[in-house]
This record gives sequence, C-alpha cells and structure tokens, in this order.
Amino acid sequence: MFLSLQARSECLFCLAALRHEDSASAHVCRGCAADLPRPAPHACVQCAASIQTPGRCGACLADPPSFDAAVAACVYAFPVSPVISQLKYGSRLALAGWMADVLAEAVSRRGPVEVDWLLPVPLSRERLGERGFNQAALIAAAVARRLAIPLRRDELLRVRDTAPQASLDHDERWRNVRGAFDVAPDARLSGQRVALIDDVMTTGATLDAAARALKQAGAARVEAWVVARADRRDGAMTQADGVLHV
Ligand SMILES: [Zn+2]
Ligand SMILES: [Zn+2]
Repeated sequence: MFLSLQARSECLFCLAALRHEDSASAHVCRGCAADLPRPAPHACVQCAASIQTPGRCGACLADPPSFDAAVAACVYAFPVSPVISQLKYGSRLALAGWMADVLAEAVSRRGPVEVDWLLPVPLSRERLGERGFNQAALIAAAVARRLAIPLRRDELLRVRDTAPQASLDHDERWRNVRGAFDVAPDARLSGQRVALIDDVMTTGATLDAAARALKQAGAARVEAWVVARADRRDGAMTQADGVLHV
C-alpha cells in the first residue's frame, strides 16, 4: 500500500514530471489543472448544483437541505473521480493535499470566509477501523491550514454505521443516513458557524443529516465544502454517481 505523505514530483493525473512553472499547484500540471471538470459558471448557493442563473436551484427552493450554503471545487467526473477513490480506497494519502488546494481555492474565490471552524464529516468507528483513516479529516486538516481556520474533529459523531451509500438508490440514500449523526455530549455549538468538509457530495443526503444534527444542537450556520459534487441535472444522477461515494 502506498502511504507516502511526501509531495509528488509528477502530475497526479497524467504523471508528467512537474516543472517549475507548475508550482501554483504542487500536485497537478498546468494542462491537467486547466482541464479539470469544474462546476458551471453558476452554482446553486445552497447546494452547489450547476444552474442556469445565479441563486438557488429548484430543488433547494422546493425542499432546502439543512446546510445553508455549499462549495464544490470540481464536478465528480473523470479524472477527479478515480483520484478520489485512490485516496479513499488506495490510501494514497498525498492526494489529500491536492484536494485541499482546490477546495481552499474554490472557497476563497467565492468571497470572504464566514465560518468559525471546520469539521470533517466523521466515519463510523467500524468504517474508521476498516480503513484506518478518514479521508474527510485529512482534507479538512489541510484546508484548515491553508485558510487559517480552526479545525475541530470531535463535535460530531457517526452514531450509526450505515450501509455504503454507493450501494443504494436515491431514496434509499436519504433513509440510510437519517439519524446517523449526533453531536458529542460536550460539544458547544450554540451560535457557531461551521463548515462541514467531505470529499464528495452525491445526493447531499449525508451532509444534510450531519448539518441537521449540528443545527439541532444550536449551530447558527452550517456550510458544506466538498472537493467534488455529482452533477445533478434535472434531478438525474450522473453515471459516475453511485460508484464510489461511501
Ligand atoms: Zn498533468
Ligand atoms: Zn440547490
């Protein structure tokens, strides 16, 4: 298993040797950075879905999620999707650095950051034991350093081990994560503004359930920051959707 935390000297995507002029991103060459599947010019301010005009998407207007705003750095499509699975299942932990780079950049581009601290979406104890690490926690720690925002890890608990989201259809995903999160007994959330960090948002069900628990404990605002978001046009999931997200 590849477990190096060292910066790579070749591009994550095309494996070309990185040159000095690529240093804006230490992990990806300029050509690949320019070709990344980026969100459409307009994204729903609440769930980050691609939309035609600025504002909120139809789904958020009709039935808003528990989080107040979302940022997605990329669309969950090739070549970002296999890179995310390499971090999650292949333990190439150095990939978290690139993900934090693009996420921090997307958050900064949106405007002033108005959250008090970051919080990775937790894994259940069983899943953490299997995998040995929480990919969201690795990304969150690196984003916290890049944006100089405090990081907390223990406020939110995954109290119920859920079936892998990838194995479920849209409706089952929402049922699966209902009640899966609880706040820690000593968590102080009253009036706090929190950004939840995860690698992928697919239906948004996991982030919704996590945000709901934080709001019920008194959080004033919860944002969802993800490296990649499945592009959900007309309510249909993309082909990549359902393959990798846990
Ligand atoms: Zn490249
Ligand atoms: Zn929306």
